Amino acid sequence: MRIFAVVRKMLMKRCVLPEQIIFFVTNRCNLRCNHCLNYSNANKDLSEPRLDEIKKILESLAPFSLGVITGGEPFLRDDLPEIAELFRLNGKVLRLDIITNGFDFEKIMFLSNRIFDKVRDIPILIQVSIDGPEHIHNRIRNHKDSYRNVLKTLKGLQRLRDIYHNLRIGVISTITAWNENELDQIIHFILNRYSPDTYGINLLRGQVPLPELKNININNYIRSYNIIFSYFNNRAEKKLFSKIFSSYKSLLARNVERVYRNHTTLFPCYAGKLICVIDSLLNVRPCEVLEVNMGNLREFNYNFKKLWFSAKSEEVRGMIKKNNCTCTHECFLQINMLFNLKWIIKILLRFIINMIKQKS
Ligand code: SF4
Repeated sequence: MRIFAVVRKMLMKRCVLPEQIIFFVTNRCNLRCNHCLNYSNANKDLSEPRLDEIKKILESLAPFSLGVITGGEPFLRDDLPEIAELFRLNGKVLRLDIITNGFDFEKIMFLSNRIFDKVRDIPILIQVSIDGPEHIHNRIRNHKDSYRNVLKTLKGLQRLRDIYHNLRIGVISTITAWNENELDQIIHFILNRYSPDTYGINLLRGQVPLPELKNININNYIRSYNIIFSYFNNRAEKKLFSKIFSSYKSLLARNVERVYRNHTTLFPCYAGKLICVIDSLLNVRPCEVLEVNMGNLREFNYNFKKLWFSAKSEEVRGMIKKNNCTCTHECFLQINMLFNLKWIIKILLRFIINMIKQKS
């Protein structure tokens, strides 16, 4: 399996290419959310990577496990279907995630149809954000129609899922001081009405317009996650892989809670090693939180490997290791756990304990 091959290489201290790339394909956005991590860049520098640039970059690092297309709002790019196709054909990714605020229903439907006409052989997860019941979601998203549009988008994606079997629907809610007490309500509603394939809760991270939104009671996060776990556990009744995945997700949530409470590292962070960010100016960064840069792909003639194995990149990796860097960024904690032998064993143990509990 791919995970074990990568872990083996790492144990042998060999430098590896990333397994997950988070690609900001635009800074344009049609909303101004109060909790946006990318607020300082949104709608500022509007230059975007061209298709030929994306193609060269992906070709130079193929194959990798997961491509995440984000922004800004990726569905504002008319060539999003071509970008998705490049990830599959040239990047040879095994799964693709596209993050959207779900606001522009018609464009999302139009482009999604084209995406799924082009890419049919790998799962594509379209992740839609919703942050609470109508009054809260609209307040956070700063738009009176935002909630209504997101629900239309979810309904539209549900219809598309019946046609395109590689379409997966994901929902993300970001927990904040404004919604922590009402999140359960929206989670129940979305799970029962739209039966998404995944549901994640994110903690706020980085520089956001209203930092006070970060002040939450972490118990609310865990309580809301428990609703999600019990829903997916019931749904996964007979599927072994889904049950293991569920055990992994519950451990992940516990780890986010522990890092949040104790500000401590639980494992080394693989940012800049197994996961990285490419921003819309084609800077490669270890993550979205640290303000450090490993280099610009234009200066490396779009050769990702050359940049990745450069002295500067090695220096950034050394800095992260030395500082024992820690944060609650879920994407990174996921990778840190999945590619860590100790945690793979813990996930399997958790799965076995859950099975025993269910049987007794
Ligand atoms: S712990 Fe967080 S901030 Fe530090 S390198 Fe990893 S992802 Fe970035």
